[in-house]
Amino acid sequence: MTLAIFSQLGSGYTTDKTFMAVAGDGAMPGDGDPLIVSSPIDGKDLTRGKMASEQQVNSVILQAQHAFERLRTLPAPVRGEFVRRIGEVAREHKEALAEVISLEAGKITQEALGEVQEWIDICDFATGLSRQLYGLTIASERPGHRMMEQWHPLGPLAVITAFNFPMAVWAWNAMLGIVCGNSIIWKPSEKTPLCALAVQAVVDKVLDDMPEIPRSVSTVVIGDRDTGKQLSGDSRIPLVSATGSIPMGKKVAQTVAARLGRSLLELGGNNAMILAPSADLDLALRAIVFSAVGTAGQRCTTLRRLICHRSLADKVCHRLVKAYQTLPIGNPRDAGTLVGPLIDQQSFNAMQLALGEALREGGQVLFGGDQVLHDVPAGGFYVRPAIVKIRHNADIVHHETFAPILYVMEYDEMDEAIAIHNEVPQGLSSAIFTENMREAERFLSPAGSDCGIANVNIGTSGAEIGGAFGGEKETGGGRESGSDAWKNYMRRATNTINYGGELPLAQGIEFG
Ligand code: NAD
Repeated sequence: MTLAIFSQLGSGYTTDKTFMAVAGDGAMPGDGDPLIVSSPIDGKDLTRGKMASEQQVNSVILQAQHAFERLRTLPAPVRGEFVRRIGEVAREHKEALAEVISLEAGKITQEALGEVQEWIDICDFATGLSRQLYGLTIASERPGHRMMEQWHPLGPLAVITAFNFPMAVWAWNAMLGIVCGNSIIWKPSEKTPLCALAVQAVVDKVLDDMPEIPRSVSTVVIGDRDTGKQLSGDSRIPLVSATGSIPMGKKVAQTVAARLGRSLLELGGNNAMILAPSADLDLALRAIVFSAVGTAGQRCTTLRRLICHRSLADKVCHRLVKAYQTLPIGNPRDAGTLVGPLIDQQSFNAMQLALGEALREGGQVLFGGDQVLHDVPAGGFYVRPAIVKIRHNADIVHHETFAPILYVMEYDEMDEAIAIHNEVPQGLSSAIFTENMREAERFLSPAGSDCGIANVNIGTSGAEIGGAFGGEKETGGGRESGSDAWKNYMRRATNTINYGGELPLAQGIEFG
C-alpha cells in the first residue's frame, strides 16, 4: 500500500509489497522471520516482509555506539536544533503522519492528530531543555575546593514501544534522549512498524540538512519480542526504555538487571476515578466517557474503574448508559467516529474472556461488550464499550484488560474509596471528581492516591507533555516526558576541584 507520508518525504522504506526492517543509516530489508502487518480497520494487509535478524540488530548496535561517540561531544544546543527541526518537519506533515497511525493502530483521526501534536510538543520542550541540562554547585567542606555536578550522556539507548502510542512514546524517549547526547535504537511494536518507518523518514529529512549530526543518531529495527530480548540483554546498551504490558516489563527488568543495566519502564495501568457526592456530574460524565472509551479503551491511562458514591450510583449508571448508547462506533477515518476498532482478534477475545469472568464473579453488564457488525468495515473488531457493575474486590477488576470495559463499584466513606482505589497492583493514573476541597487535597496527599498521576476534576487520560509521565507499583516506576524526566537519560558525575596549594582530606582525616 502506498502511503502519502513516504512519497511526500521521498522515502523508500516501504514499497507496494514490502518494508525495510532496518531504517536509518544502512537501511536494508530484513533477514529474520516473516511479518505480516494488517490494519485493525478492516483486517487487510498493509505490508509484509521479514524482520531484522540477530546479526542485523547487532550491526545496528555497533553503529549506534559509533554515533554516540560523536553525538556526546556536540554541544547540547546543536542537538536541540536537530530536534527542533524534526518537530518542524513533523508539523509540516502532520496529517500524513496521523494517517499512518489511524491505518495501523486504528485511532480516530482526531486522536491520531493529537498523537503527532504530542511529538511536536515534545520537540519544543526538548529544544528548550537543550540549554537547561543543569547540574548543581555544592559547597565543599575543604578550603580551596569547589564541588559541582555535571550530567553526561549515557550511550546508545534501546526504546521498545507498544502499539497504542506508535509515535509519541518514541518521541518522549528519543527527543529527550538525543538532546541529552544519546543515540537511539527503536524497536517499535511489530503491530505498528509503518508508523516507525514514517517517523524515521522525518528524521532522515532533517539529517540530510545537518551533516554535523551522525546518521546513526536514531535507527529503527523491526522485530518482535526476540529483538526486544536481544536489546535488553546487550551490555553495550546502558538504558532500555520499555513501554508495554506488565508481563513484558517484568521480563525486560530482569534481563537488564542481570547485567546491572538501567531500565525505564512504562507498563500497564488500572486507572480509577472516585466520584464524590459533591461532584459536578455534567463535567464528570464527559470526563468518564472520554477516559473510558477514547482509543477504544486501549490507552495505558484508560479509565477502568469508577468508584462511585452509593448515593449517586444509580443516577450515574443511568446517564452513562444513555451516553454510551449514542457513541458513534466505526471506521476511525470517518469524521464523527468516536470509537474505532480494537487492535486485533486477540484483543477482542481477551475482552470477551474478561466479561465472562466478570459475570462469573457476580458482575452485571449494564451495557455493551458485544461485537458491532453493522455499519463498520468488515474484517475489523469493533465493540460496544461495556459498563459492568461489580464488587471492587472481584479478581478480574484487579487486572488490566486492554479494551473498553468500565467497572463501576460503590463506596460509602472516603476512607473506603481511597482504600478501594489503591488496592490494585498497578499505579498509573487516577482522578477524583469533587467540589470538596478537603477531599481533593486528601486524594493528592501522601495518604491519598498511590499513582504517578493524580488529577482533580479531570479524567485519567490525556496527559500533557510538560509533566513527568509514569506510574508506581507494577506500572514500573518510570517517568518520561516533562519535568526532570531527562535525568533518566544521563549519568551524574560529581566533580571536586582543588584550586588551593594544600591537600586537605574530607572528614578531617590526617594521613601521614
Ligand atoms: P506488549 O507488552 O505486548 O508489547 C510491547 C512491546 O514489547 C512490543 O514492542 C513487543 O514486541 C515488546 N516485547 C514483548 N515481549 C518482550 C520481551 N520479553 N522482551 C522485550 N520486548 C518484548 O504491549 P502492547 O500490547 O503493544 O501494548 C499494550 C500495553 O502497553 C498495555 O498494557 C498498556 O497499558 C501498556 N502501555 C503503557 C504505557 C505507559 O506509558 N505506561 C503506554 C502505552 C502502553
